[in-house]
Amino acid sequence: MECIVVVVWFVCALIAAAICEGKGHSAVAGFFLGLLLGPIGVIIAAVLSSDETVLEERALNSGQMRKCPYCAEPVRWDAKVCRYCGRELTATELLREGIRASKEGRKADARELLQEVTRLEGSNEKAWLWLSGTVQSDEEREKCLENVLSINPVNADALRGLEMLRQRRAERGKASASEWIPLSLVAVGGVALALFVLSLLWYLAQ
Ligand SMILES: [Zn+2]
Repeated sequence: MECIVVVVWFVCALIAAAICEGKGHSAVAGFFLGLLLGPIGVIIAAVLSSDETVLEERALNSGQMRKCPYCAEPVRWDAKVCRYCGRELTATELLREGIRASKEGRKADARELLQEVTRLEGSNEKAWLWLSGTVQSDEEREKCLENVLSINPVNADALRGLEMLRQRRAERGKASASEWIPLSLVAVGGVALALFVLSLLWYLAQ
């Protein structure tokens, strides 16, 4: 009899833990709730309200949901309209808004919107091209333009952009080489002078 009670209580603890975990609460707390109160603990866990913040955070991390680029609230991947701010979330609309933000000089907004388009439609040539104008580093810009070319190898804007980036990098390389040469000459001269002074001192000490 006692053995059955122990088993039942243990099962209750496991069930309560699973329910709590599913509702975004601590599974450990749920386990002890079931362990202490048995079936009553299970009932308490069942009527407990869910922790929406934790559940949404989980859904975002697991990729089940995405963040609305306008208000940063979590929305479903297939949502056409944000349930919080009411803005349209289709790739077409986000692209239009992203381009508008880019033209108005709101680079951070534009980047957020265009990145969302590329997440929704990885092969959206226009989105990658406009995104290349809003990212912060040349490396990111190059990546965006390469993506454009992998979709459309003859995209003239992307070809020109990449060419410019590569030229700029080559110039930077040359500039750092021209800084390096006089520095190394000074170093070699310094070592030669030190050796000369040392040998002179040694000669005088003889
Ligand atoms: Zn929103």
